[in-house]
Formats: sequence, structure tokens, C-alpha cells
Amino acid sequence: MKRILSLLFAIFACAVLLHGCESTTAGGATGPGRSQFLLISSEAVNEGAAKAYRQEMAKARSVNALNTNATETRRVSAITHRLIAQVGVFRADALDWAWEINVIEDKSINAYCMPGGKMVIYTGIINELNLTDDELAAIIGHEMAHALREHSREQISQRLATTGAVSIGAALLGLGSATQDMATLASDLVLTLPFSRSMEIEADTMGMELMARAGFDPAGAVRVWQKMAALSGGKSPTTFLSTHPSDSARITNLQNQLPKVIPLFEEAKRSGISSQAQSTVPRLAAPARATSARTTPARSVPARARRN
Ligand SMILES: [Zn+2]
Repeated sequence: MKRILSLLFAIFACAVLLHGCESTTAGGATGPGRSQFLLISSEAVNEGAAKAYRQEMAKARSVNALNTNATETRRVSAITHRLIAQVGVFRADALDWAWEINVIEDKSINAYCMPGGKMVIYTGIINELNLTDDELAAIIGHEMAHALREHSREQISQRLATTGAVSIGAALLGLGSATQDMATLASDLVLTLPFSRSMEIEADTMGMELMARAGFDPAGAVRVWQKMAALSGGKSPTTFLSTHPSDSARITNLQNQLPKVIPLFEEAKRSGISSQAQSTVPRLAAPARATSARTTPARSVPARARRN
């Protein structure tokens, strides 16, 4: 064990030297210039996240809560297709990710995107906020931006740097149960812990650019957080709302970004991008198999405090 720990430490030290500061994204009208502290590989994080995602979808399927409303699932899928078509502006490789989105029938106010592009949107956030297509695009775009910037990988790297967690280090080496360890970690990070404020602002800003380029009115992003602010007064703090405070700084940042992205929205409208996107962008995995095409009553999916 001592030998393994020494090896892990050596790899950790090399990783710091070789890969300590970089940026996962580039370009765009609003793209962040912040350099990131990244130790662990994208592959290790994404593999663990994909496993966690499959487990979450299996849980939802087991209570007949997965993609139960065919009309809503189609709507969410169509919006997501249009947004995925735009990710190349920040990173070309993301056009080839195995993006996937599923709709979970649950009253939770929640949505998330795991590392690598595995997304979930809960019907609770759609219904409670009565989301328009523009507003839904703002939320999905925000979640996609977290994945594009690899914010979870950054958080895992920070945790590794501060704790030297052996299970994470093992993932660097591909040892034993590392994939399950990473799945658990990815699940914990993505589903329960908040991102930093700077990461949230990045996701807001990049998400707004994605939606504008996809032909969604970026003012919808401002509206959706205003709706969140109105809703947050009467809700438990252990929800999406607690990790996404709808304070004036957040809304002010989005308002300040509008002049940069409105021309992109106008150009997208002129080019008719909204009607082209579905046929030209097939890079979205089919949703996990629906258990029923009809709308069913809300069932309880394990209700943890979740964020993104
Ligand atoms: Zn977020």
C-alpha cells in the first residue's frame, strides 16, 4: 500500500507540473479566460459519470418516472439538439460527445448535466416555473456549459490536491474499483454539492451564448432566474435553488452579457437555424427507453438536494 501511495504521489506531482493550469474551452463571444486546475483525466471522470448516470436512469425507470410524457420528452430533446449544434464554438471535440438527455417525472426543482454530457431535467422545474422554450433552453444551456468547462473535473482535481484521496488517485492509475469510486464521486459532486460562484457565472454566460446562437431569445435567461428568485422565497433551501441563488449579481451579469449575444440571436434568426438544427445535428443519444408514452402521476425519485 505504501508503494502505491508513493506512486500515486509521484503521479500527482507530475500531473501538477504537466497539467496544472489549462483551459477546457476557448473562443466564443463570451468565453471565459480563466485558467483551470486540472489533474485527473477527462476520460476517468466521464467514465465514472456515465456509470452514475446509468444508475440514476435505472432508478427512475424502476419507479416508472423516466420519459413518461412523450410530448414533453420530444420538446426537451428538440431544444437540446439545437444547443448541442452550437457547442463547437467553445470546443470542437464536444460535437462528438455522447450527449444524452432524459426527462424524469418528479416534482423536484432540478436539472443537471454530468461530465461528458449526460443530462436530466425534472418535470418539476418545467411545470413549477412554467418554462417557455427560451427559458428551458437557458437552463439546459447552463447545465451544458458546466460540462463543457468540466467544472466537476476541476472540483475533483481540487479535492485531490487538498486531500490526496487515494480512491481518486487510483482512478488515475486505472486500479481496481476506481470506476465505481469515480461514479460515486461524480454522483456526489454533480448531484449534491454546489459549484463555486465563478463556475456558476461561467455557466450562466456560456449557456446564454449557446442559446442565442441556437436561435433562442437570450432574454429568456434573465427571465428564468427572475422566476427562480420569485420561487425561492417559499422553497426549502435543500433544493436546486439553494445552489443556484437568484441574487442580483447573477441577474446583473446576465443583463450585462445581453449586448454581446443579441447580435448572435439576430443572426441565428436570419439564418433560420431553429428549423435547420434538428435535421443537421444527430449527435444526441436516443433517450433511455420510456416505460410508457402516456403521462403518469408523479412518482418519487430519491429526493436528494441536487445542483447544477
Ligand atoms: Zn449551475
